[in-house]
Amino acid sequence: MTEITPAVPVTWPGGARCAVAFTFDVDAESPLLSTDPSLADRMGVMSHQAYGPLVGVPRLLDILDGLQVPATFFVPGYTAHRHPGAVRAVADGGHDIAHHGYLHESLVGVDERTERDYLERGLEALESLTGRRPSGYRAPMWEMNWRTPGLLHEYGFLYDSTLMDADHPYELAVGTDGRSLVELPVSWALDDWQQYCFVPGFSGTGLIETPAKAIELWEAELDAMRACGGLWILTNHPFLSGRPGRAAALRDFIARVREHDDVWIAGLDEIARHVRAQGLAPRSLTRPRPAAEDHA
Ligand SMILES: [Zn+2]
Repeated sequence: MTEITPAVPVTWPGGARCAVAFTFDVDAESPLLSTDPSLADRMGVMSHQAYGPLVGVPRLLDILDGLQVPATFFVPGYTAHRHPGAVRAVADGGHDIAHHGYLHESLVGVDERTERDYLERGLEALESLTGRRPSGYRAPMWEMNWRTPGLLHEYGFLYDSTLMDADHPYELAVGTDGRSLVELPVSWALDDWQQYCFVPGFSGTGLIETPAKAIELWEAELDAMRACGGLWILTNHPFLSGRPGRAAALRDFIARVREHDDVWIAGLDEIARHVRAQGLAPRSLTRPRPAAEDHA
């Protein structure tokens, strides 16, 4: 069995010790509709999700513009079709827009034809609206299968931001002939869903954390990441972090991050290009073989 080796540190521009990316998953209605289409009947629940593109996105764009901070927005194709104005505003703001499925579908257990269909419909929705082909991808629910990286490479993506096995970005080997995809790893601790999301009967327990508690966690993780020289990626959802108190706390936090002179803040597209330019040797990740298969 070939041993999987850890990702190695990369160097950052301008003498920075650590890279930071603020990312926003503009899920809106799509995760609910892909999980259970009958949720479309719940007008209140649909309105909770629509808050993201209708109110959260403009508010967050204003904050990013005021602080002159670039960000990455992962947009399901369905969101681009249902809320084109919000997605156009993101594009007009000069931010990186990346692929996040068509209807936020899980990729686990799907056949290849179905997975290609999700990729192609998402690409078509984003390209026709923005006129640009996205260079990045994030799997819905951060769940991909072992075929996914190869398909992403085939469709011309430069980077993925789904996996969780490193503090540092790396080149993920695709096949055995030197092809690779830049992987920008994430963490559940740096996601606002676990802090804020409550949709009765769909997600959460009803316990909703304060912005102060969420920011305390993210700031502690950032301070530690600065010491280890990695890539710190925050994932927020406009239907959650676009609410006024949360957005205000996020604005103050981003302003503090900007004050650190050892931190490079960039969109994931720019970070991926920087990583690609370093010419890292690709890492191979292999599917574990559960004991039952080994003995089959
Ligand atoms: Zn999502």
